[in-house]
Amino acid sequence: MRKVSVFGATGSIGESCFDLLMAQGGAEAYDVVALSAGRNVARLAEQAVALKADLAVTAFDDCLPALRDALAGTGIEVAAGPQALIEAAYRPADWVLSGIVGAAGLAPGFAALSQGATLALANKESLVTAGPLLMAEARTHGATILPVDSEHSAIFQGLVGEDIAAVERVIITASGGAFRDWPMEKLAHATVAEASAHPNWDMGQRITIDSASMFNKALEVIEAKEFFGFAPEQIEVLVHPQSIVHSLVGFHDGGLMAHMGVPDMRHAIGYALNWPARKPLPVEKLDLAKIGQLDFRTPDLQRFPALRLAREVMEAGGLAGTVFNAAKEVALDLFIAGRIGFLDMAALVETTLGEMSRDQGLGIAAKDLDMVLSCDAEARARAMAICEHGRI
Ligand code: NAD
Ligand code: MG
Repeated sequence: MRKVSVFGATGSIGESCFDLLMAQGGAEAYDVVALSAGRNVARLAEQAVALKADLAVTAFDDCLPALRDALAGTGIEVAAGPQALIEAAYRPADWVLSGIVGAAGLAPGFAALSQGATLALANKESLVTAGPLLMAEARTHGATILPVDSEHSAIFQGLVGEDIAAVERVIITASGGAFRDWPMEKLAHATVAEASAHPNWDMGQRITIDSASMFNKALEVIEAKEFFGFAPEQIEVLVHPQSIVHSLVGFHDGGLMAHMGVPDMRHAIGYALNWPARKPLPVEKLDLAKIGQLDFRTPDLQRFPALRLAREVMEAGGLAGTVFNAAKEVALDLFIAGRIGFLDMAALVETTLGEMSRDQGLGIAAKDLDMVLSCDAEARARAMAICEHGRI
């Protein structure tokens, strides 16, 4: 039986993965090694029982008693804390889903790769924060990373059987998020509730707000560079309001391969779960006649400066991605807490990048994970200080 672990099991990605594991035979078909979650230990316990997991881990120490109570008498091991998460990821498994949100997903992903697992990577922050190190870790241990982000899964599928040297460009599609058509004046007053409602995808709150600001697309452009090794100028972004074309690969001969499907993450997760095979998935069939029309347009860099910042980050290289992601996470926390406005998020990220680049330079490549983590911590502290001193 295939050994699998799911990190971030109670999130939007994690629940979709749970759904697929259950639909594909559950505990009869998979030997579930570890499941992890943040604070929703009641749900984590339910999943662990349903999948007969060996171990259930919460990221937070204060949640351990509740998890222990919920699993009392089941024989399922429990653990808590960031170190326990990493130890869980070191447990041998064939397939590991990285579905934690934010840079907290970085260390467990590294641990999974170091034991040679196939890492199904939804946690794009890992590649933005430490792309070259993560890819090198996979190579060193003969491990495989499979993209779960829908755009990257689409590109990956478009490349099957192709020579990567024949690729001229990739086009990452973007729904445009909740504020696709909002004018600048209105964006300045956008509320957390308004930013948390995605027109097409049902996702966690953080990525939904990142979609509204297009920071999600900015992360994805960098993710594509790090994962596939494309040059920045080969990566284009196209706004496509229907979210039916998940991305395109363009070849030197002018051919464009588009990947289409309904917006449902169970496709990309299921593709990674069954790869290199394809299995039937509980995903709605696409009815193109019903949709009738697909629209595409160029993104507006003025209203969505995150996309311009992504270009600057790729240009700078080195630790710029680490600072970009960390400052973005702080900016998002501050926006959710009502401390800064919607447009201040990009301004805060830009100022943080500018100050850290001026003070220490960002072009140096990270030597190891510790260097990444300390740069991440420094960028978070700097972003907070910039906000507190009103320097946005
Ligand atoms: P979510 O907020 O719904 O779930 C996050 C999961 O991580 C939960 O299980 C939560 O308990 C856990 N978690 C939260 N903070 C943690 C911490 N500090 N340490 C350990 N675990 C923690 O998020 P999501 O929308 O499922 O997104 C997960 C990842 O997948 C993100 O990196 C996101 O960018 C990426 N992604 C999501 C979607 C989507 O459709 N939701 C699509 C593409 C990529
Ligand atoms: Mg995506």
